[in-house]
Amino acid sequence: MVAFSKHYLPFSCYEVGHTWTPFCPSASSGVGLSCFEEGLKIYSSVYLLSALLSGKLPNIAQCKRIFSSIVQSSFFLACNGFCFIGAFCICRQIFGRFGVLSSGFFPSFIANLIAILVERPTRRPALAIYVTNVASETIYNQLVARRFLTPIPHGDIIIFSLTLAGLFRWFQATQDRNNFLFKLLRALVGEGEIRSPSNLPTVKTPPGKGIWNKSHPLCPHTQGCLQNSFQVLFKRFLCGWGLHASVSAILSFPLIMRKPSNLLLLLKGMKHVRFGAFIASLATIYQAVCCALRWLQDSNRKSHSILAGLLAGISVGFYRNSTLILYLAWKTLEVLYYEGIEAGYLMKVPGFASFLYSLSTSILFHAAVMEPHNLKPSYWKFLMKITGSRISQLNRTSLDCLGLQSSKMLPNFNPEYESNHISDQFKLWLQGHKDEY
Ligand SMILES: [Zn+2]
Ligand SMILES: [Zn+2]
Repeated sequence: MVAFSKHYLPFSCYEVGHTWTPFCPSASSGVGLSCFEEGLKIYSSVYLLSALLSGKLPNIAQCKRIFSSIVQSSFFLACNGFCFIGAFCICRQIFGRFGVLSSGFFPSFIANLIAILVERPTRRPALAIYVTNVASETIYNQLVARRFLTPIPHGDIIIFSLTLAGLFRWFQATQDRNNFLFKLLRALVGEGEIRSPSNLPTVKTPPGKGIWNKSHPLCPHTQGCLQNSFQVLFKRFLCGWGLHASVSAILSFPLIMRKPSNLLLLLKGMKHVRFGAFIASLATIYQAVCCALRWLQDSNRKSHSILAGLLAGISVGFYRNSTLILYLAWKTLEVLYYEGIEAGYLMKVPGFASFLYSLSTSILFHAAVMEPHNLKPSYWKFLMKITGSRISQLNRTSLDCLGLQSSKMLPNFNPEYESNHISDQFKLWLQGHKDEY
């Protein structure tokens, strides 16, 4: 058996990377074309769905804009795939070998930077947040796998609570009322909770005698605090349950059409109840804590929202979804960053979204090449789809000597090489590893 250094691998890009073809240009253009084809399918659905959701029939100019957006975004995806394989081969030529970082991270960073400049500038921040979210999950998996980190019990709930504390504080202070997050929070806790005391409704139902009808004079709701809390709990549960069940029904539409009895089965699903309970408890805890603080301090401070958000975070215990939690955490950091720039506390870094996209996607590509078992399964599926399964056709057994158990997820992959395109050194290595296939 041929043994190599733990830090580098002397094989060619064909032997390690594009095992399906010995020709570098053919490999990169094949992956680029596959990405473009899949990109057209993905972005056609995305842009057409958002046009449909806007509720307006697009005119000719808008149709042209949608079409050019679909082509531009697909070209961005194609460019990312094409440049990644190209940079992978060029890096091998320059370094003369493969190392832990030159197999995935470096070539990917170059490719990502070129590709993101092709994408529309308005889409770059959203893309950066999306990949940073997936990359943070991947880094967490990598740290746990290396035993640098032990999972903290209820760590997701702690992250969500801190996120809500920051998010609700931003909600009370921001002027950016067209922001999607602002509209979402307003729908959740109601218009009243963002009004300043001077704007409070003056007309209230006469206070009753019982605790049920009692409300603090500074409370924005017209009913008693307890009555309002129960109303919020009931209404938000119905909304949350209905929304989750409707989305599930739309996604399972072909299945329901084939067998209508599936609809009843779908509506009985516990995940809808859990989502309803999550939304209901979040809104109710937030409002109840705000009411309690008004009673305790006899004032209506914006800082109350921090404690209310922190406690409302417990609600995620009903619906523990790490993607949702991390996405909201990164979105919160994004809005706080922009508020910080607006207030003059933070500096605006030009091209920050493009850099963040490139860095986060490099982390994901490094994992996809070197340790796919630590990658989020849905992202691996996405890579398989856009590359026409080429991402699974790397010779990861040869990368195992770099110490990251690269072939752990696909131990039985056995590439068919063209013998006139492989080196004697690699032939010797193949001989030594015959039994492993
Ligand atoms: Zn090559
Ligand atoms: Zn109240």
